[in-house]
Amino acid sequence: TSAEPKEDDYHSIIKDTEKPAGETTKHDFQAETKMLLDIVARSLYSDKEVFVRELISNASDALEKFRYTLLADSEAAQKFKSPDRKLEIHISTNKQNRTLTIQDTGIGMTKDEMISNLGVIARSGSKAFLDQLKVKKEGDNIGNIIGQFGVGFYSAFMVAEKVEVYSKAATEDQGYRWSTDGTGTYEIQPAEGVQYGTKIVIHLKVDCREFSDGDTVKNIIQNNSYDLPRYTLHYTTDV
Ligand code: ADP
Ligand code: MG
Repeated sequence: TSAEPKEDDYHSIIKDTEKPAGETTKHDFQAETKMLLDIVARSLYSDKEVFVRELISNASDALEKFRYTLLADSEAAQKFKSPDRKLEIHISTNKQNRTLTIQDTGIGMTKDEMISNLGVIARSGSKAFLDQLKVKKEGDNIGNIIGQFGVGFYSAFMVAEKVEVYSKAATEDQGYRWSTDGTGTYEIQPAEGVQYGTKIVIHLKVDCREFSDGDTVKNIIQNNSYDLPRYTLHYTTDV
């Protein structure tokens, strides 16, 4: 049984409506990214829940970009295909599928943005993290370094065996599915039924299945005073 969303909950957002709609292309992660993913995936860092904060703060950033453009850049905003949508973050869990999904109705990414933003390390925190690793001394704890610098989106690979990202940029008609198991390459494919904004599906490692429990995730979010200015969080728990 799944919780029925309320009438005004922007229903379709939590449904899996995406379908492949074109050729899949395969891409290599940038060498530095590969290294980072490898380290993050194998780290024994115990404070794994920080990935929730990273993904929610990315969702919040994407919503801010959308909102700010609407307010302050009318030329750019004119190119938005769906300017009236609600600004929301949806979190859904599914124990049976061992997934955690975080979806926002923010600015979204074009295909090129998925390649440059998710495949290449631009983030200063991730760069500092790698620099710090190079000077790491015997006995230094990688977890502490992850905690100190944050690895943003890539922190998902502490808990994920596969990550899918569905995104449709505010200015586009076509949405895309990006996916990877974190080992060197990722795939991109045009997809039908992608909502405006970004939906990240985390397929959890067996030993991280706790993050597919709705109450656990809700507690993590509520016990951390995340800086979520104005967005409504919607929770859905399947199974
Ligand atoms: P940072 O947030 O510090 O820029 P991240 O590693 O967390 O670094 O994210 C990398 C980039 O991926 C972001 O800068 C953004 O361009 C893109 N991105 C990540 N999540 C989203 C999202 N939910 N919506 C739109 N873009 C996103
Ligand atoms: Mg971030």
